[in-house]
Amino acid sequence: MLIVQKYGGTSVANTERISNVAKRVASYRDKGNDVIVVVSAMAGETDRLLNLAYSINKLPDEREVDVLISTGEQVTSALLAITLKTMGYDAISLLGFQVKIITDSSYTKARISRIESENIFAELKKGKVVVVPGFQGIDEQGNITTLGRGGSDTSAVALAAALKADMCEIYTDVDGVYTTDPNICEKARKIERISYEEMLEMASLGAKVLQIRSVEFAMRYNVPIHVKSSFTYGDGTIVCKEDSSMEQMKITGITYNKNEAKITINRVPDRPGTASQVFSALSDENIVVDIIVQNVSKDNYTDITFTVAKADARKAYSIMEEVAKKLGAEKVILDENIAKVSIVGLGMRSHAGVASKMFSILAKEGINIEAITTSEIKISCVIEAKYGELAVRALHSGFGLDAEEVREEK
Ligand code: ADP
Ligand code: ASP
Ligand code: MG
Repeated sequence: MLIVQKYGGTSVANTERISNVAKRVASYRDKGNDVIVVVSAMAGETDRLLNLAYSINKLPDEREVDVLISTGEQVTSALLAITLKTMGYDAISLLGFQVKIITDSSYTKARISRIESENIFAELKKGKVVVVPGFQGIDEQGNITTLGRGGSDTSAVALAAALKADMCEIYTDVDGVYTTDPNICEKARKIERISYEEMLEMASLGAKVLQIRSVEFAMRYNVPIHVKSSFTYGDGTIVCKEDSSMEQMKITGITYNKNEAKITINRVPDRPGTASQVFSALSDENIVVDIIVQNVSKDNYTDITFTVAKADARKAYSIMEEVAKKLGAEKVILDENIAKVSIVGLGMRSHAGVASKMFSILAKEGINIEAITTSEIKISCVIEAKYGELAVRALHSGFGLDAEEVREEK
């Protein structure tokens, strides 16, 4: 079998853990499998590198940021290859430019456009374990790019799709996908199988256990993903096409995202073309906007509020200050102190009253809702950051998702 395994930051946080990863890889090799291992940077390393850049400039040059932050994964790939070789297993690390993982040129959030398979297959043929740093690629001009935070998941799934692997395993610090983040809700339940659609929503709404683009890739190329723990043995969660064995719940999961910031433009003249000017200025800079709320116009002025990823907040804020000046708006306010809580479930389509139940659960906890957005299978509310975890727990039990027994600490 051809197996792609990805190990996240906590799983390779130090040389002892890298050695545990190597043992697991070796056990698959011993059974005669071909193994490609994708590794993240050591836990905390990407943040450390980013903070170095931010200490010099609040808006550092993004091409250089990618050169900087791609190094974390280079370190762990080399260390894993060294460990495997020390254990007597032949291994080689191939960096993004050596595999040839080609992306577009959107630094810090590049998209993979193609992956060449020749170099990897040539090394596998020689009997080597191939270790590939996650998160990184190169654009057509050979510049180093990175795939957005959590992007090693996407590297793994994209490799599995490109190489037509038989299995794609994502090893992390929890033993599967849960009804909500098991680190904030001790009554979270492990989901055995979850559809791509629901996982896509959960990921895009903050369940960082899988990066959203990895789920998009998996869905497009029909690659089942097995999410497992690198610290324990046993089955995790299978993310795959919807099938009849999946639980048909009204609500499948609750998510929570504190990585967004809210920007409000006060007193914008309310005339045709304003919204277009605001949002095209952001899209020109490749900034993705999430929730948008525009107030009812009073004396021909209105307020526009929207949310963006925290990583883009400062850039978006400075763009908005320019736009506000041009439009004659009063002021721009940046609020980084927000959280977005969401409920997700395919069953929501056929059940009435889900939204009102969500609002009343939040109200009962005294939590004010600052913005709301809905789609067919999800409802999200923006609230003050300090209530985020409380809201998750209240919604989890309010919608009947609590496990009967509290999980044992692992
Ligand atoms: P890695 O470094 O292995 O990529 P991440 O920290 O990116 O790991 O993702 C794993 C984390 O995702 C878990 O520790 C958990 O706190 C978080 N998480 C959030 N939502 C969920 C969920 N619904 N199920 C499981 N884990 C979740
Ligand atoms: N090291 C990168 C990050 O921290 C990529 C990853 O771990 O998936 O976002
Ligand atoms: Mg991750």
